[in-house]
Amino acid sequence: MARAPIVVVGAGPVGLCLALRIAQSGAAVLVLEKRAGLSKASKASTFHPPTLEILSALGVWDESARQGQVVSRAQYRDSEAGVAAEFDLAAIADQTRFPFRLHLEQAVLTPILLAALEQHPLAEVRFGAEVSAITQTADGAQVQLVDGAMEAASCVIGADGARSAVRGWIGAAFEGADYPTRVLRLMTKAPLDELCPGAAPLTYLFAGRRILQLPEDERLLAHHSARAGGIE
Ligand SMILES: Cc1cc2nc3c(=O)[nH]c(=O)nc-3n(C[C@H](O)[C@H](O)[C@H](O)COP(=O)(O)OP(=O)(O)OC[C@H]3O[C@@H](n4cnc5c(N)ncnc54)[C@H](O)[C@@H]3O)c2cc1C
Repeated sequence: MARAPIVVVGAGPVGLCLALRIAQSGAAVLVLEKRAGLSKASKASTFHPPTLEILSALGVWDESARQGQVVSRAQYRDSEAGVAAEFDLAAIADQTRFPFRLHLEQAVLTPILLAALEQHPLAEVRFGAEVSAITQTADGAQVQLVDGAMEAASCVIGADGARSAVRGWIGAAFEGADYPTRVLRLMTKAPLDELCPGAAPLTYLFAGRRILQLPEDERLLAHHSARAGGIE
């Protein structure tokens, strides 16, 4: 009898990466996602060397690099004193094949991962499939969907985000802490290097406890994070 697939709950970047890895290692995988399609929300926009190593191992680096922007120089500036520090990830070129960051919106990365999964014979991604309960069985689990359907799983992985219901169902604690602050993301086509001469492709601008982050990306031209007090 064929073994039931591994079920991954959630088609965010974590669930999709994990599902691709599982399929590539030779096991059947079923991703259940409650939304009708991939999220288009503007969330992660930059990925660091360890993540790029993972994307490369999954075989999606070339397409990610084609759609993203490689940035190695980062700058920290004070709004009054000017440049406080600047560093170049090229300095760790002996530690990683990816001595840079990739500026790429999460909503651009996830379709790349989905396309790779859709081409894999051992993978299935199902949208509009909200998981409502999980029951342990002798040889795996039964996954119940909101529409009443049941799926057998050899194992279930919760990749259902920060407010994970799976984590609650299995009684796992949330280790760590929420940011006590809020982020406001603005996108602009304004010429930021004219407004902030000498800014690096990634610039953090500090004004007291407030931070403004200026990451260059052809799609996401700027996003501004404000902590503890908002942007002025
Ligand atoms: C403003 C902002 C900026 C960020 N910037 C960065 C950055 O620059 N770099 C970086 O690495 N990270 C960044 N992050 C963090 C990054 O976005 C998250 O770490 C990432 O989204 C986590 O991915 P995930 O797959 O775990 O969860 P999610 O992306 O939240 O995906 C979870 C999925 O599970 C689905 N789901 C939930 N419940 C169920 C259910 N019961 N049944 C079926 N499906 C379900 C949801 O619909 C969703 O699609 C940022 C986050 C924010 C908010």
